[in-house]
Amino acid sequence: MPDFDYAEAIQKNLENVKNRIRVAAEKSGRKAEDIMLVAVSKTVSAEKLYAITEKKDMIFGENRVQKLLEKYDILKERCVWHFIGRLQTNKVKYIIDKVAMIHSLDRSELADEIQKRAKNRNRIMNCLVQVNISGESTKTGIKPAELLPFLKKVSLYPNLRVMGLMTMAPYTENPESVRWIFRELKNISVDMSRENIDNISMRYLSMGMSQDFEVAIEEGSDIVRIGSDIFGKRDYL
Ligand SMILES: *Cc1c(COP(=O)(O)O)cnc(C)c1O
Repeated sequence: MPDFDYAEAIQKNLENVKNRIRVAAEKSGRKAEDIMLVAVSKTVSAEKLYAITEKKDMIFGENRVQKLLEKYDILKERCVWHFIGRLQTNKVKYIIDKVAMIHSLDRSELADEIQKRAKNRNRIMNCLVQVNISGESTKTGIKPAELLPFLKKVSLYPNLRVMGLMTMAPYTENPESVRWIFRELKNISVDMSRENIDNISMRYLSMGMSQDFEVAIEEGSDIVRIGSDIFGKRDYL
């Protein structure tokens, strides 16, 4: 059953987050509408999510294939789905016709598989390449030095369209301490767009989560992925 009390509480959080997005956008000379909000729904049940999809204007981000499939079964096209987590090659086939964007393209074998499955379904999959700026070994992502050859390779894949870059900053309580990471990703995206590679666009930068999205927007983010500030602190991942 849809949970409408929950929906009311979440709407408030959403408005609050959207306001903060607007303020940060204006600080960097942009408008709220220039920033895409991906509500990271990974901790929230399909029943709860159902109640906030009346207007069909939500984008939900999920980081586990199994969870995404369970929720998709119930919500289907009441929302738009983005995949934001580490993606196992053997699971691409399950999500290829369900998600509008994959934020976590981070290796060649995954690109090969996305190309193959997208071709099978006769579609073009929008992807962002995840870059590991921080150098943390626990973070997945392509090293900056390997990005250009990677882009040149996937530019030849007709069913995979790179639309920009994504990064995750390390956990911090002080967002200023990760500002350099967002600035660096922006610089890299400018460098890559100067390469003018066919079939590769640097339209989007997916950076910023609850802990740091305002700083990320100030540094040029146009997609923020926000979970706990909308849905509450997580009790599981
Ligand atoms: C969980 C998650 C987020 C959102 O994190 P919050 O701190 O809850 O806002 C963003 N991006 C990725 C890849 C995630 O896994």
